[in-house]
Amino acid sequence: ATPISVMVAVGKAAQTGILIRKGDALQSAGKLSCMILDKTGTVTQGKPKVVSIEGFGNFSETEVLQLSASLEAGSEHPLAAAVLAAAEEKSIQPQKTTQFKAIAGHGVEATLDGRRVVFGNRALIEQERIDIAHHTRRLEKLCAEGQTPMLLAVDQKLAGIISVADPIKADSAAAVQRLRELGIRVLMVTGDNPITAQAIAQQAGITEVRAQVLPQDKAAVVKELQAQGETVGMVGDGINDAPALAQADVGIAIGTGTDVAIESADVVILQGSLLKVPEVIRLSQLTVKNIK
Ligand code: ADP
Ligand code: MG
Repeated sequence: ATPISVMVAVGKAAQTGILIRKGDALQSAGKLSCMILDKTGTVTQGKPKVVSIEGFGNFSETEVLQLSASLEAGSEHPLAAAVLAAAEEKSIQPQKTTQFKAIAGHGVEATLDGRRVVFGNRALIEQERIDIAHHTRRLEKLCAEGQTPMLLAVDQKLAGIISVADPIKADSAAAVQRLRELGIRVLMVTGDNPITAQAIAQQAGITEVRAQVLPQDKAAVVKELQAQGETVGMVGDGINDAPALAQADVGIAIGTGTDVAIESADVVILQGSLLKVPEVIRLSQLTVKNIK
């Protein structure tokens, strides 16, 4: 039978926007030694915005935005939403594409007016053997500011860069500090590049970062830490995070998490506040103390 103190704590948590979906999560949360935070939507606000557009060669900024938006119309990624919003703001209509393909953790590609168009991160463009040597310093500068630059290539030539910013949540740094005070090792995991990841982590006071982790590999990071003897909590918001949430000792879905992420979570935080994460741990520690 569920001890009364757990039921009381579950009720108390619900009043503050913390849904404990599995009763034993409340007992496990207090034993966590390590907390993995997803970057986008967990540490950051998760509402990326386009902050700069550059066109190269014959490509104007408008063309760069139109081509990118045309590709992103087929994607459900938060970065796609940012590009589409920027296009709409300038009344740019996305065009029809064929042979659309989303490449997880990298970007999108399609054919448009008989041209091969690729849009995504540096790794994706370099895989296409497109020379970006002239732009690496610029790209690294954008990343060091915590932005995520996306590159557009048309017929094997670099056509432009669209850079997106997704600032950290107002309470991310406080939440990380609180977790530390509770004796918890904090890591950030992301599919984004290492320079951007490092810049965002630094703003939030996180010292351990795993970057360029493909969506399907996030669960492997959880496993790796468990193999090191850690009891691992994972906080994420995206559909990509579901396997990692399921693998974690305690999976916490945050914010407007997709149905899938919520399904695989032990705990759901409704209002997106990262400060609720240390609150779950403290509540658990108090509850376990009461049971004993
Ligand atoms: P996250 O961990 O932030 O959810 P993902 O693993 O989904 O990141 O993607 C990793 C990186 O791949 C992104 O930072 C971006 O550079 C690139 N990328 C992924 N999807 C897209 C897309 N639809 N359009 C442009 N770039 C993308
Ligand atoms: Mg994500």
